[in-house]
Amino acid sequence: MTSHPAVDALLGRSNRLGSDPRTTNYAGGNTSAKGSTTDPVTGGTVDLLWVKGSGGDLGTLTEDGLAVLRLDRLRALKAVYPGVEREDEMVAAFDHCLYGKGGAAPSIDTAMHGLVDAAHVDHLHPDSGIALACAADGEKLTAECFGDTVVWVPWRRPGFQLGLDIAAVKEAHPQALGCVLGGHGITAWGNTSEECERNALHIIRTAETFLAERGRPEPFGRVVEGYAPLPEEERRERAAALAPHIRAIASRDRPQVGHFTDTDAVLDFVSRAEHPRLAALGTSCPDHFLRTKVRPLVLDLPADAPLDAAVARLRELHAAYREEYAAYYRRHATDGSPAMRGADPVIVLVPGVGMFSFGKDKQTARVAGEFYVNAINVMRGAEAVSAYAPIEESEKFRIEYWELEEAKLRRMPKPKPLATRVALVTGAASGIGKAIAHRLVAEGACVVVADLNGENAEAVAEELGGPDKAVAVTVDVTDEQQIAAAFREAVLAFGGVDLVVNNAGISLSRPLLETTARDWDLQHAVMGRGSFLVSREAARIMIDQKLGGDIVYIASKNAVFAGPNNIAYSATKADQAHQVRLLAAELGEHGIRVNGVNPDGVVRGSGIFAAGWGAQRAATYGIEEEKLGEFYAQRTLLKREVLPEHVANAVFALTGGDLTHTTGLHVPVDAGVAAAFLR
Ligand code: NAD
Repeated sequence: MTSHPAVDALLGRSNRLGSDPRTTNYAGGNTSAKGSTTDPVTGGTVDLLWVKGSGGDLGTLTEDGLAVLRLDRLRALKAVYPGVEREDEMVAAFDHCLYGKGGAAPSIDTAMHGLVDAAHVDHLHPDSGIALACAADGEKLTAECFGDTVVWVPWRRPGFQLGLDIAAVKEAHPQALGCVLGGHGITAWGNTSEECERNALHIIRTAETFLAERGRPEPFGRVVEGYAPLPEEERRERAAALAPHIRAIASRDRPQVGHFTDTDAVLDFVSRAEHPRLAALGTSCPDHFLRTKVRPLVLDLPADAPLDAAVARLRELHAAYREEYAAYYRRHATDGSPAMRGADPVIVLVPGVGMFSFGKDKQTARVAGEFYVNAINVMRGAEAVSAYAPIEESEKFRIEYWELEEAKLRRMPKPKPLATRVALVTGAASGIGKAIAHRLVAEGACVVVADLNGENAEAVAEELGGPDKAVAVTVDVTDEQQIAAAFREAVLAFGGVDLVVNNAGISLSRPLLETTARDWDLQHAVMGRGSFLVSREAARIMIDQKLGGDIVYIASKNAVFAGPNNIAYSATKADQAHQVRLLAAELGEHGIRVNGVNPDGVVRGSGIFAAGWGAQRAATYGIEEEKLGEFYAQRTLLKREVLPEHVANAVFALTGGDLTHTTGLHVPVDAGVAAAFLR
C-alpha cells in the first residue's frame, strides 16, 4: 500500500507494462496518475500529479521513483510559458510545482502528463508503435490502422510544447484514446487506470496486427550470399576472436565494457540486402539513439572473410566512422553546444556473427544492444508497410547534445576506480581468490570467476551480483584448451579482459623423500604451468585490445623464504615469482604491468588449509590445527593474522590506478616476515 489509491493503481500498471519488452524498452516511457488529497497546510483539497521521475524503469518502478507535483501550479505554467524556443526553461520551473518533498526529479515528459486532461496517462516506446511513427507515410497508416481513435502528432522534441500539442489533440478529438507521436512512440490516456492500460495495450497490439497483416514479406530484402549466420560454434569462436579488436575500436576515446548478442533478429538483419542502407539511416526514437548513438558501425565483409582481413577492414571503417561522427558534430553544433563526447561507435554489427555493444559498464552495454534490437524491429515494421523514415539528423543532434541531457550526464556519480575493467581471477571460487573477486567488483570491475570447481564458481558469481557484474567459468588451469575456452567465454561476456589474477593453487606439502613425482608434477602443473598458460592467453587478448592491462600473480612468501617440508609447492611458487619478472620485462612495451603478491599464513577461508595442508603444517610446527592462524600471527613482526581480504587489498593497490608506473614488483602480505624481505 502506498500513500494513495491512485498511486497503487499507477505502480501496478507501470510494473505490468514495463515488464513486457513488446510494450516498452528498458527504462523507456513514463506513466502518471492524477488524484486529490487533503493539503496538510490548509486542510483543503489539493489536486496532484504522480509521474515517473527522470531515469528509472517502469518494470521496477516504486513510489520513490515518482515525482509528485501540484496540478494547479503545473498547469499555471501555461500562462508564463515563453514559447517553444525557450521551452527548456520550463524544466527548472517544474521544481516550483513540487508537492511535499517532491519525490524523484521530474522528467522532461512531465508537461505531457500534467497538461493532458485525463486522470491516467501512459507514454510508451513499443516497437510496433514506433514502426508506425517512423514510417514515411505514418500519418496515413495511423489513420488506416486506427480510424479516428488514435491521432497522429507530428514529430516534436519532447518538452513543454509537445505536452501542449498532445493536450490540444485530446481536446479536439474527444473520441480518441491516444496518439502516435511521429518519429518517437505512443501516448494513451484513460479516466481510470484500467482504461488507460487497456487503451495503451490496444494501440500496441492493433499496430502489431496491422504490421503483421499488411506488411510485405522480407522487408529487409533477400539474404546476401556469404552474409548468412555462421553455424553456432563457429560464430562464437569468430566473435571471440574479433572481440578484443572491436573493443579496441569502441574504446579509442575511453575504455568500454562490451556485450555480445547473436539473436535471430540481429543475424537476420545483417544477412539481408537492405541492412547497410537502413543502418546508415540511424535509429529514430530518442531513447534508442541516446543509447546506441545515431548510427552503428557495420562490417561490410562476408562472414567467412579471413580474420586478418576483417580486422583490417574494421580499422578502416573505424577511421571513417570517427571522421563522419566529427563531421556530424560540426554540421550541427552551435556556440552553446556541449563539447563532442567521443567519436567511437557504441554498436558494431558483424554479418554472420552478431552485434557488439558497448558502455561504461556491463548493464549499459547490454541495454544499448537491446535498444538496437528494438531499432531493428522498428525498421522491419516500418519497411514492411512503408519506408523507414527516421527523424532528421539535426533533430537527433539537438537531443544528443541537449543541455538537459548534458546536465544528466554531469549529475552521474564519479566512476569507481576499476570501472570498465574486466578481470579474470583463477581459483576465485574459494579463499583468497574469492576475496579478490569481491574487492574487484566492489571497485567497479566486471569479474570472471574461473575455477576448477564450477559449482562454487557459480555461487560466487551469483553472490557478486549476477551476469552484469560477474560470470563463472569452469576451467582447469593445467589444460591449454580449457584456458582458451575460458578466455573466449570471458570476452563474449564482457568484450575483453584487462586484469588477470593467477591465483588458482593447491598445496601438497611433503618432505623431499615423501614427495612423489606425481606430487611434483601436479603442483607445477597447476601453479607454474597453469599461470604461464593463463598469462599467455591473457597477453594475446590484451595486445589485440591495445588497452594495456594488469597481470597479478598470487605467489607466496615461500617463493622467497620457504617453510620446511614443501619442496614442490615452494619451488613452483619461486617459478611463479620469476614469471612476474620475466613477463614484466617482456610485456611492458604493450602497457601490460605484471606484479606479484606474496601472502603468508592465510588460514581463514582457505581451502588449501582446510584440505589437509593446515593439519600438515600444524604437525610440522607441533601445534593444534585451530591455533595455526594465531601461530602464524605470532611469528610475524606485526603480530597480526593475515586474512584473504588483506591479499585482495594488495591486488587492488597494484591495479586500482595509483601504481601506474610500477611493474615487476612483489608485495608481501605476511604481517612482516623478516626472512622474506625483498631486496
Ligand atoms: P583455496 O583452496 O581456498 O582456493 C584455491 C582455489 O583454486 C580453489 O577454489 C580451487 O578449486 C582452485 N583450483 C585448484 N586447482 C585448480 C585448477 N587446476 N584449475 C583451476 N582452479 C583450481 O586456496 P587459497 O588459500 O585461497 O589460495 C589461493 C592462492 O594463494 C594459491 O595460489 C596459494 O598458493 C596462494 N597462497 C596462499 C596462502 C595461504 O596462506 N592460504 C599463502 C601464500 C600463497
